[in-house]
Amino acid sequence: MVILAATATDLRRDPRAPRSVRDVETVFDAHVDRGVVERALAASTFGSMWLDIPRPDHPQATESIVCDLLVVGGGYAGLWTALHAAQRNPDRSIVLIEANRIGWAASGRNGGFVDASLTHGLENGKTRWPNEIDMLEAMGRENLDGMQADIESLGLDAEWQRTGVLSVATEPHQVDWLANAAAHGQGQLLGLREVRDEVRSPTYLAALYSSDTCAIVHPAKLAFELARACQEAGVRIYEHTNARRLDSAGVALRIHCDAATFTCRNAVLATNVFPSLLRRNRLRTVPVYDYVLATEPLTGRQLDRIGWRRRQGIGDCANQFHYYRLTVDNRIVWGGYDAVYHFGRKVDDRYEDRAATYRRLAAHFFITFPALEDVRFTHRWAGAIDTNTRFCAHWGLARDGRVAYVNGFTGLGVASARFAADVCLDLLDREPTARTELEMVRRQPLPFPPEPLASIGIQATRWSLDRADHSAGRRNVLLRTLDALGLGFDS
Ligand SMILES: Cc1cc2nc3c(=O)[nH]c(=O)nc-3n(C[C@H](O)[C@H](O)[C@H](O)COP(=O)(O)OP(=O)(O)OC[C@H]3O[C@@H](n4cnc5c(N)ncnc54)[C@H](O)[C@@H]3O)c2cc1C
Repeated sequence: MVILAATATDLRRDPRAPRSVRDVETVFDAHVDRGVVERALAASTFGSMWLDIPRPDHPQATESIVCDLLVVGGGYAGLWTALHAAQRNPDRSIVLIEANRIGWAASGRNGGFVDASLTHGLENGKTRWPNEIDMLEAMGRENLDGMQADIESLGLDAEWQRTGVLSVATEPHQVDWLANAAAHGQGQLLGLREVRDEVRSPTYLAALYSSDTCAIVHPAKLAFELARACQEAGVRIYEHTNARRLDSAGVALRIHCDAATFTCRNAVLATNVFPSLLRRNRLRTVPVYDYVLATEPLTGRQLDRIGWRRRQGIGDCANQFHYYRLTVDNRIVWGGYDAVYHFGRKVDDRYEDRAATYRRLAAHFFITFPALEDVRFTHRWAGAIDTNTRFCAHWGLARDGRVAYVNGFTGLGVASARFAADVCLDLLDREPTARTELEMVRRQPLPFPPEPLASIGIQATRWSLDRADHSAGRRNVLLRTLDALGLGFDS
């Protein structure tokens, strides 16, 4: 989740945050009638609205298959890898395997914010890689434009809209953060009246508008359409084909699934938050659950009450932030705020239907848009985010350079998965490129500690972030220490 996380990260480290403010309530602590919330959620079905559309089936692999390149994982990272590999070398035999269905995981559940940043926001990148941040920003823009060009040239129906993004201040101290960001060229500052002319919410005090660094997309359609483009480029796709083990067999690799074995020269592991086939990667990420609601389509009258004619993606800018956007049929997709880690690092669908979180999200929706009190939610869902300690993707090679992997998108992977795919292919080619020479690509993040330390640390950090949101942004000793060490927890 998202984009706005990127902006929030940029802004919340502003040293000008007041230091002597006593804990205050935030606008989202306002009371919302429980009946309104319950009524709005009563008819919602559990499961990603994006995936609630027809989609093509792909067969399960049930034999021994030999190929040049095996891509493991049918989310954006795997799909872009397979597609670009086929475009780079049409003669290469490429197979993509997916344990479940194409796009069923994060790639079919996200907010659909396509943000240019490769570093989970400018400030995170600037702090970690000050010498190459300009290049990283330029590469991020190039990647976003390249994604748009790919979508157009391949005719992918993914509901791509280059709407830009509004980061809105809902607390007085956030107005200063936005002004500071605007002064550093990160967008156009809109005052209270200007932002409410764009989108009418009584919670908005100001906004930062970035017109060109972000698009919105239909996440699942993007995945399905990428799969179609892969097949048209000659990639064979298998679903329900779970890679269980990876062995080296002389110059070849063997990947064992339940009903099939693959023999290949190279493999790319694009398995995101799921347990890696490489033991070395298992402590590098933790699953963090992010929750989303979608409304019924708004009528013209309902939409008139809030404006939003330019359909920008929107996020507020506390540590615990909401992100929201319109769909082409004028639903509002509304997610974020709670980012939940469960002891033991497991990805488990039992964590997804969390009533208290959906109620909180719904209440915050009505605080933001009281004029939409008659609107109902039709879908509620959650997804696991692969969070690492540096908040953006990390890469590596294994098995004598024959296996490349990428993980750790930390909630900002819709655009950066495409860049990540190119990095994986460059790494396997063994020819240095501008991408593989990046320090960001060459360096690995620090791992999270094993349990119970991971859980204790993450819960303490989450608590501190909540306190900071209730203290005009002021960061406590734990957060300041983590900032100094370049560590933390984000989503
Ligand atoms: C609720 C939510 C909201 C988000 N919002 C945004 C947003 O607005 N903008 C943004 O930029 N990012 C957002 N993100 C993050 C973004 O969705 C992800 O970073 C991105 O989808 C990652 O793509 P992926 O291909 O790495 O992972 P995935 O989509 O998770 O795909 C990985 C695939 O690998 C498969 N797999 C795993 N192990 C194996 C195996 N052993 N064998 C075979 N297959 C395997 C899995 O089944 C899965 O399908 C959000 C994420 C969530 C959960």
